[in-house]
Amino acid sequence: MQNFETLKSLLSSPKRIVITAHANPDGDALGSSLGLYHYLKQLGHRITVIMPTEIPDFLSWMKDYDQVLVYENTRLFSSNIVKEAEIIFSLDYNSLSRTELMRSVLKESTAFKVMIDHHLDPDDFCQAVLSDTTASSTCQLVYEFIEMMGDATLFNKDILNALYVGILTDTGGFRYATSSRLFNIVASMLEYGIDNNKLSDLVFNAYTVKSFNLLAYCISECLEIMEDCNTGIIALSQADHKKYNIQRGDLEGVVNFILKIQKIRCAVLITERREIVKLSMRSKGDFSVQEICANYFNGGGHKNASGGAMKKPLKFVVNTFKELIQTEYKAELTKDVVLEF
Ligand code: 5GP
Ligand code: MN
Repeated sequence: MQNFETLKSLLSSPKRIVITAHANPDGDALGSSLGLYHYLKQLGHRITVIMPTEIPDFLSWMKDYDQVLVYENTRLFSSNIVKEAEIIFSLDYNSLSRTELMRSVLKESTAFKVMIDHHLDPDDFCQAVLSDTTASSTCQLVYEFIEMMGDATLFNKDILNALYVGILTDTGGFRYATSSRLFNIVASMLEYGIDNNKLSDLVFNAYTVKSFNLLAYCISECLEIMEDCNTGIIALSQADHKKYNIQRGDLEGVVNFILKIQKIRCAVLITERREIVKLSMRSKGDFSVQEICANYFNGGGHKNASGGAMKKPLKFVVNTFKELIQTEYKAELTKDVVLEF
């Protein structure tokens, strides 16, 4: 970790600390933030966790969920806390733009900034950086950070439950982005008494009747398969958003369902928001949606899970995506993959 010693010495006396993660926080964003919070609390720091936008309901059971400030609902109050912070942690994001409306207050802050993240191509806005794209999740990196601090004895159920959530969500229940390094960590967590069955149930069986019906609608009415390109698209208009009263979090995981179809290697969920059209992409194997998001949709993420956005009408964005796939990526998406086991 870059500048680890400076950070370690800063953390050796009580500080005012703010922990942030990306807008539209997911299990890894919130899990890593709360995991780090439960750790740093034991060192005697004054810590505030601030998420740029609202946290999905399915995570509301997490310990100290109700202590987390949501910046979009508490702008003035949260801005003042950021301004007074001596250390700011940037978790699970690689660019200040991912914090959306928090961006300017974070940029202006003179606090010592620390990035812990696993996304590709990190921007240079932090003094201490733990950036590792081979890690399953930011939660894994927070676990390793606590070990690096020499504080493995401080692990407790609150920390480990929180970190386990992000590991579960970012690996899709140990289906991707795993490694022996991760499984060693998970083994230690289980030895500590973390309950995989219970946490998996809380995280993965979390549909409401409304979001389950919405998933059914997306699959039955909105899914378009580009069979000659092994690609699937679900596009939702503003009218769909109104008709189904779609709220943040209701579409969580929908894009992943497209990849369940045999042969599909690239999947996208395109949603028309009030001012922008957002793309959420997934892929299998070597096909990189990070490249597509970074090059054409002002976004990024990971090779197999990325996002981006465009300030254009929905139809235009859908057509742009389809054309790109047809002209630039068809060959790569249809080349034979030899499965050797
Ligand atoms: P999701 O599709 O679940 O929103 O995000 C998938 C991955 O892409 C996550 O790691 C997320 O952080 C990243 N991502 C999503 N949207 C954007 C975006 O607009 N810009 C960038 N740089 N990354 C994004
Ligand atoms: Mn993550």
